[in-house]
Amino acid sequence: MNLRSTLLCCAFAMSQLGACAAPAVAPRKELPVAVASASSDVASPPAASASASASASSASVASVAPVEPPPKPYDLAADLAERREKLTKIFGAKVKFEVVEGVFLIVSPSGTLGASTNVARNALAAYYNGRFAARPARALSVLLFDTAPPYNAHCRLRNGKDCTTPFGFYEPSDRTIVMNAGPGLGTLTHELVHPIVEADFPKAPDWINEGLASLYEGFAFPRLGEIRGTKNWRHPALVVALRAKTGKPTLPELFAMSDEEFRGENEGLNYAIARYFCQWMESQGKLWTFYQAWRDGYASDPTGVAAFTKTMGKSPTDLNAAWTSWVLAL
Ligand SMILES: [Zn+2]
Repeated sequence: MNLRSTLLCCAFAMSQLGACAAPAVAPRKELPVAVASASSDVASPPAASASASASASSASVASVAPVEPPPKPYDLAADLAERREKLTKIFGAKVKFEVVEGVFLIVSPSGTLGASTNVARNALAAYYNGRFAARPARALSVLLFDTAPPYNAHCRLRNGKDCTTPFGFYEPSDRTIVMNAGPGLGTLTHELVHPIVEADFPKAPDWINEGLASLYEGFAFPRLGEIRGTKNWRHPALVVALRAKTGKPTLPELFAMSDEEFRGENEGLNYAIARYFCQWMESQGKLWTFYQAWRDGYASDPTGVAAFTKTMGKSPTDLNAAWTSWVLAL
């Protein structure tokens, strides 16, 4: 389980909020509430009784430790069925479901599955076509609300308040993407990346995780199995930063960026830097060679600098000027 994976919000919110408005907050509790893991979690005895048992055994006759039943193997079909049942209870009989790529349970509370399902299907087909290798093994619910009112009503039901981003977010704790499809489907293509990165590159730093997700907020499907990031609303802020007299963003800084720094006061700009690094790499056909080399060599290359240098033939420092020029000319 990737405990590092705090809730990864859709940074689309930043277009209005200036930062990844951490829907982060409520779901960060990270309780093991997933249906699938419940059976193994309840098997552990409380710590107090375990230590009491240990001291009793040392003081008298050795007692036999209770044998815990082995955790039940994960049952995908049962998980999907339980999710359908639970969501039907919440939304009523009009709710519609469709399973895409085996584990993604697309849910339309209003019963109007349409373009969003096609986008999910096309995006996932592309993500799995030579890009990501490992797939999520467990079911994920993708709740697609048509407009803001039912989307916020759902957050109030879950968390007692409106959603903290107007667009959507991913809650790793119960493997659920919640989104408002009203403003567009870029949030969907963004959020679908996160559970896949969680499976494929669990130690991925936030900057590359969000860079990849943000790349496909603005997307095109040139053909089946392909997706391309297109210039989007994050570009102007990056241009302003790159034209500043001092403190310009640089690739070496990006590669050295900790998760804390990424989520810090310049989070909005950091998303843009990471996104346009990814689009620049994709434009040269190098993004996925780099990503896969980093993922596979992470143990000896935690910053990704070696993977980048091997892929590009030059270091981030060497290519910073080329990246800057590309962004400014885009
Ligand atoms: Zn994100």
